[in-house]
Parts: sequence; structure tokens; C-alpha cells
Amino acid sequence: MTTHPDPALENAVNGLKNGTYVLHLRLDAPCRLPIGGLGTLSMPHGWYAYVGSAQGPGGLAARLRRHLAGTGRMHWHIDYLRQKATPVGVWACEGAALLEHVWAQALLTMPGAGVIAPRFGASDCRCATHLVHFPALPDAALFRALAGPRLPPDAPFHVFAAPAAGDG
Ligand SMILES: [Zn+2]
Repeated sequence: MTTHPDPALENAVNGLKNGTYVLHLRLDAPCRLPIGGLGTLSMPHGWYAYVGSAQGPGGLAARLRRHLAGTGRMHWHIDYLRQKATPVGVWACEGAALLEHVWAQALLTMPGAGVIAPRFGASDCRCATHLVHFPALPDAALFRALAGPRLPPDAPFHVFAAPAAGDG
């Protein structure tokens, strides 16, 4: 298993300002994983979509580079999963609008969506989870259609994918 970030993804997120993102990770084999305060969870293989927002210094670029690199101390729940899973794509939308919870809801309505880790990344909100499991990489166009009414009209919805993102 490779957990090295794809250079294309790292380049793609450069320069992104504050905003909301979905980080897509592929887990090649099931594993039991300690996830901070959530305890040890059984994580099936497949694709995971994690929703977050970056409104602080460095914005989306700094946050996503950190996720892609998988380095640094364990701080967010996603940091633990990142140790075992490979980044395969990023969706992002710049702007100060608080979209992460709407996006989490939209992901949960997509075909194949599954809640593996309740409260993952959602310790401080009412969402069921901010981490959604899929049997295949979810479709960006469908997500955009579902979340579209709540997307800022003046900010592009970025879709970045690692070249081999579709391969199992
Ligand atoms: Zn939430």
C-alpha cells in the first residue's frame, strides 16, 4: 500500500484560500484503527469522503497539504485514518460560507453512502458524521447537484483527482 501523496494533488491545492473541502481517501484493506476519542474502530476497505472547513491562516491550501502529506501530530480524527489510507481526490469551494455540515448531509444522501464511524469529525456539530464510506469513488457531478443550491454562486467548485483515483 502506498500512502504517499500524489504530486498532482499537492500542486492542485496550492493557492486555495479559505473554504470547505471533501478529502477522498482509499483504504485498500480492512483494518482496526484507533481514532482518538472515538476508540478503536473496524474500518472496511473502500473509499472514504471526509468533510472539513479551513477558515484559519493558510486556508485550504495549508490544511489540504497537511492531509495529503499525512505528517504532523495526531490532531483530527482524519489524521488517524490518513495513516492507513491513500488520498485519491479533493473537492473544494473557496469562501467564508459555512458549508461543511450541508456537505456532510449531501454526501450521506449519495448512492452507497455508509456511516462507519459515527461522530467522526463531528464532535462539535449535530451531523451524524463527517466521514462517509463508499464502495467506489463518489461522483463529483452528482454531489454538486445535491449540494448545488447551497453552493456560493460566485465560487467555483473544484474537483481534483489523483491520476489513478478510479483504480481499485
Ligand atoms: Zn457537521
